[in-house]
Amino acid sequence: MSRVILQPTGNKDAREHYVDTLIRPVDILRIKPFVTEDQFERIKELYPNGLVPTWGVTAGVNNVNANKWNRIEPADVTFFSAKRVLYSYGFVTYKIHNVPLAEHLWGRDSKGQTWEYMYFLDEIREHDIPVSLFNEIVGYSPNFNVQGFSVLDEQKSNALISYFDLESETAFQPVTERDYKEVIEAFNKDTLDIEGKTKSRAEQGFLRKALFGNRTIHTCQICGKEYPIQFLVAAHIKKRSLCTKEEKLDYQNIVMPMCKFGCDDLFEKGYIIVKNGKVVLNQKLTTEWLDVYLHNLAGREIDNWNERNAKYFVWHAKHHSLSKVR
Ligand SMILES: [Zn+2]
Repeated sequence: MSRVILQPTGNKDAREHYVDTLIRPVDILRIKPFVTEDQFERIKELYPNGLVPTWGVTAGVNNVNANKWNRIEPADVTFFSAKRVLYSYGFVTYKIHNVPLAEHLWGRDSKGQTWEYMYFLDEIREHDIPVSLFNEIVGYSPNFNVQGFSVLDEQKSNALISYFDLESETAFQPVTERDYKEVIEAFNKDTLDIEGKTKSRAEQGFLRKALFGNRTIHTCQICGKEYPIQFLVAAHIKKRSLCTKEEKLDYQNIVMPMCKFGCDDLFEKGYIIVKNGKVVLNQKLTTEWLDVYLHNLAGREIDNWNERNAKYFVWHAKHHSLSKVR
């Protein structure tokens, strides 16, 4: 599950770093000499435009910060705060421990420490959340103030993430197959709202990871066009809410990437169905422009149609009644 990181920026160093390496992201070429080839490739993949919002914390007294940093994972949310306001958040994409790079970017503080426990962020959004509201959501006393770098426990993190409906469009939380199975099991048992949302997030996160891996660009399997993955969904071929538990667990076959520019919706609403691996149009209410879109898809061969997912397409076609196929 994603966690919430609190990052107060009250002191001068933090305020400067916020502007110098986050608001003005670091050029990837400044990072390159200090990281391994693998790390560089991963960062390049995450930031195709070469601009990398970068943050770091010092080890802290007795490694207190380092230990907290160890718990950070991709898709965690960092809230930056100052003057009793949480003024922005961003999603963690990747982290590295790197003294020379930290020193290069930020130098050293008055105690001789550098901000070597580094992490990179994306999708940074500004907002204006009073610390008092934050306290209310996580159950702290009204006077609590964010003092230092901290990583909240699962319960408090979930409360915040649910309250603000935070979800990264590109970063995935690392959900294992076992976690996924637990989520599917749990779905059948309870329907509590907040828990339900958290579980949906874990489910989507897992499915997206399974479909896209570390890629930031992928092909829509219906139209065959490439898009950044935030424009693709892990679409269930058979309507998710009607899948059995076994079908949901068949994640290698039950979902495929579809684009938000039309394919996902057209498929879900049954405007298009797939027959023997080819897109077939299903006559429904249409417009001139929709017809243009539809006719570009008609007859297209689905990229990864196979004997394992065919049954789900058959279900989908039946579900959307083929009586009016043209
Ligand atoms: Zn598409």
